Amino acid sequence: MADFSKETCSSLSRKLASGEVSSVEVVKSALARIDRLDPALHAFIKVEHEQALTDAKIADERRAKGANHPLLGVPVAVKDNILVEGGFATCGSKILENFKSPYSATVVKKLRAEGAVILGKTNLDEFAMGSSTENSAFGPTKNPWDQKTVPGGSSGGSAAAVAAGYCPISLGSDTGGSIRQPASFCGVAGLKPTYGRVSRFGLVAFASSLDQIGPFGKTVEDVAYAMNAIGGHDKMDSTSVNKPMPDLTESLKKDVKGFVVGLPKEYFIDGVDPEVRKIVMDAADILAKQGARIEEISLPHTEYAVSVYYVLATAEASSNLERYDGVKYGHRTKTPGGLGEMYAASRTEGFGAEVRRRILLGTYVLSSGYYDAYYLKAQKARTLIVEDFRNAFKKCRIILTPTAPTPPFNFGEKTSDPLQMYLSDIFTISSNLAGIPGINVPGGLSSKKTPIGIQMMAGHFDEESLMTAASAYERGRTFPDLEL
Ligand code: GLN
Repeated sequence: MADFSKETCSSLSRKLASGEVSSVEVVKSALARIDRLDPALHAFIKVEHEQALTDAKIADERRAKGANHPLLGVPVAVKDNILVEGGFATCGSKILENFKSPYSATVVKKLRAEGAVILGKTNLDEFAMGSSTENSAFGPTKNPWDQKTVPGGSSGGSAAAVAAGYCPISLGSDTGGSIRQPASFCGVAGLKPTYGRVSRFGLVAFASSLDQIGPFGKTVEDVAYAMNAIGGHDKMDSTSVNKPMPDLTESLKKDVKGFVVGLPKEYFIDGVDPEVRKIVMDAADILAKQGARIEEISLPHTEYAVSVYYVLATAEASSNLERYDGVKYGHRTKTPGGLGEMYAASRTEGFGAEVRRRILLGTYVLSSGYYDAYYLKAQKARTLIVEDFRNAFKKCRIILTPTAPTPPFNFGEKTSDPLQMYLSDIFTISSNLAGIPGINVPGGLSSKKTPIGIQMMAGHFDEESLMTAASAYERGRTFPDLEL
């Protein structure tokens, strides 16, 4: 069977368009690869063999009738907190183990309209809360580069699916780094779009003012194709912004001459692994060689970002997760008792430890007596962080930072200390608080041969500059293929 595991969306798309291969062949090969590798890697919670083959056939028929689109017939994977009508959406939680999606998310409808073939639903930390997929109720995903290490999270399954060569594109969600951090750990590209750029309709809410759906890709170009397909206004999501979606593949052809690239001094602190620091500094050199000007900048409120995030995200989560009560959705306890006992037992049995911790934290910071001291204060600090970025983007077009402070860590290394786990998102959280776009581009390998990525951020709705800079960097560096 032909192997398509190294193809990008555009190389696959060219082969499909020329008739050299059919979508059915590509999808069969992807499913065979999943059957071979995924029992160990566990990127998927559910593989939809039959549906994928049916959709591949439909894609081939559409092409025979003259349809042509970069995603037509291309296999993709979708994080299991994004609804696909008729399919499961477990969110990595026992509480939603048997929940069937009554409709499809807007992003799924858009992908299917372009002819993309969904292979299945990928693993995640329960309700997207985590940085390693170790919080999934269905067992963790392994990092395809080194199975002793975590793939990052919470969208670890989607990142691993692309890294393992199952598909060139997948979808994740990012509330505090859940696309960029696993992209960094798995050596793939991953974009968190501007808040409001991509519809959240059909994404199971974690923290609604921070959540965004975004794509993973083998390359920055793959990310551009995926964004072109999923971005844009949606009247089903009142926070989606009514702005035209630019063709991001056009941005890849531009150069970074004259771009001012800011290096925020608060992001080069002691806890950053020296190998990570070196790759980011090399990235600055690569951009400088192509005509960008590198300048030190300051984002003075950075040190508050993690605390602000864990007040606001947990507050919103405690409210969003109220609906899982054993009546309207999912798991219901078998323990007999009154209504209150039934709620309590269903939620205790259905939610894992990290989700319960966050519901408790969030309920606490919202409770009367503590609201002003925590929630209100965090909102004020959030405004200061937004202002930091607004000021920074008066001076620079792009901000360049590490994506994560370290290369991928080992399983179990941070599970006993939630704070250590929370700190792995220290560089990604601020852009969610500010609502700006951020991308991870693979940079190189650590001495242990595991991936390290760099992060770039841009101003609101300036995905175009982000893609230009990301692809300039990608062209200027080399990153090895993974053989599996
Ligand atoms: N790791 C962060 C958290 O646990 C971010 C998760 C996310 O972006 N969904 O909340």
